[in-house]
Amino acid sequence: MEIRNVAIIAHVDHGKTTLVDALLRQSRTRIGKEATARGDLIMDSNPLERERGITIFAKNVSIQWNGVKINIVDTPGHADFGGEVERVLKMADGCLLLVDAKEGPMPQTRFVLKKALEQKLRIVVVVNKIDKPDARIPYVLDKTLELFLSLDASDEQADFPIIYASGKQGLAGLEPELAKMTDILPVFDLIVKEIKAPVVDASGPLQMLVTTIVGDQFKGRVAAGRVWRGVIKAGQEVAHLNRLGETKKCRLTSLMTFDGISRVEAAEAVAGDIVAIAGIPDIMIGETIADSLAPEALPLLFIEEPTVKATFMVNNSPFAGQEGQYTTSRQLRERLFKELENDMALRVEEIENPPAGGWIVSGRGELHLAIFLERLRREGYELQVSRPQVIEKIVDGRTQVPFERVFIEIPEEYSGSVIQKLGRRHGLMQDLKLENGITYLEFIIPTKGLFGYRNEFLTDTKGLGIMNSSFEQYQEDEQEWKEEQPGSLVAHEAGQTLMYGLMNVQDRGILFYGPGVQVYAGEVVGQHSRSGDLRLNVCKAKHLTNFREKGMADAEYFNDVWYSEDGNTWGIKG
Ligand code: GDP
Repeated sequence: MEIRNVAIIAHVDHGKTTLVDALLRQSRTRIGKEATARGDLIMDSNPLERERGITIFAKNVSIQWNGVKINIVDTPGHADFGGEVERVLKMADGCLLLVDAKEGPMPQTRFVLKKALEQKLRIVVVVNKIDKPDARIPYVLDKTLELFLSLDASDEQADFPIIYASGKQGLAGLEPELAKMTDILPVFDLIVKEIKAPVVDASGPLQMLVTTIVGDQFKGRVAAGRVWRGVIKAGQEVAHLNRLGETKKCRLTSLMTFDGISRVEAAEAVAGDIVAIAGIPDIMIGETIADSLAPEALPLLFIEEPTVKATFMVNNSPFAGQEGQYTTSRQLRERLFKELENDMALRVEEIENPPAGGWIVSGRGELHLAIFLERLRREGYELQVSRPQVIEKIVDGRTQVPFERVFIEIPEEYSGSVIQKLGRRHGLMQDLKLENGITYLEFIIPTKGLFGYRNEFLTDTKGLGIMNSSFEQYQEDEQEWKEEQPGSLVAHEAGQTLMYGLMNVQDRGILFYGPGVQVYAGEVVGQHSRSGDLRLNVCKAKHLTNFREKGMADAEYFNDVWYSEDGNTWGIKG
């Protein structure tokens, strides 16, 4: 059967789910019984992904149309997952770029589109939601062309085919007139016409490249990827060529292809198709499965190593158990290790030191860990987490730390403060471009320098800035960091925070709480604007007593205490 492998690129909310859903339904592909029974949309099952505008897990959908099998792969929308973007695009021979007919292409899709253009993929533009009363199609097309040109698209790429659609109404056509459209099917015709069939050697010895791995309750590790050469058969003996250069023979316990949103058992699959296999227990992303008699490795795919770690612990604060239903060490342990089945970039290490104990969780960036943590919270887990730290490496007796490449887009007027702040965090500017009032910046910065910056960046740019970062390399960091590490603001005594107390200390840094929040003595209630921790009385009420005297009394608890002239704040010297 003929095959088309298509990656879909879209900004969140531009209608990707609805469109793929319409394609699935109208092609009458067998769709998951559960999904139809619930009347749900078919793709996109992770609500957190949606809220944050980040598609974390690339998914596969497969649709048969007029004797052609169209494999659709989803691209992650966020460049923090840069390695994953490249891996997913490797499976495809072309892309659908979905653009909202009112909003036009959003800068967030820039990164993925750039990668797709670099890989010389043919891009079909879908102007979606043309039923919107405020659709402005000519404007959107102009903007899209502008985007292609700014990304150095070739002439052929910039001469992109266009199709107009309303995914919601299940309609599409080559002319932007809803009235003339009858169904969504022209999208298929255009894919088949414009995107090349994979060019393959189906008779050579088998080669398959593993792009994603998921855990399966029954099958164990399931590896998905594209077959590049030959034929793969169920039950076949294959060679597994791993990252270390070793070759091991294994037998496939399952061969599956994609059908709608499901995986189905198949007897064989031919080069060009995207398949999933089971039976290779230690398979990793980027490795090759090959003919056992003529094993030949494909180029290894780069896989991000963890660069950031944090300690996850059972919550032992005085307020433990108030926020989550799963709080025990056993529950947490089970959940953390379960995540490893699906997330290959995550590592979990047990700290062998009861009663404190806990786990060191490592991931490919602050955001990666933050998203995992947020998911745990929503699932009802309650835990305590240390500040993230970068993972250091010793190479030839010298310490190396991770660095990131950061891409930034901001309205021009904010560029001064952003450049200044990144400079202070030891970022080195690589590029600065100004186009139509938007400043594009590129920096190389130690990963550590980005900690905590995302929120600051959003505040500083009034939410209009866009920042993407991806791991660059490990190298030595010669810079002095001491003053840049802010300390914590710590509650000096237990009680309820009061406006008066908070007002008194607000210029010491960033406070996490407003008034009326229960805190315990020693709780971190904010980030100090300087180094060192500072104890504050955030529960202070307005008294007519002498502040200084009160400060003095409290100070007796500490060995080496300083306090401010007004006696309202004090801290440990250091
Ligand atoms: P995704 O985030 O790209 O997967 O977007 P969804 O498919 O979830 O759609 C986002 C929102 O846009 C939802 O509220 C949809 O109902 C709406 N939407 C999707 N397609 C269309 C369309 O063709 N026309 C209009 N007017 N709204 C649409």
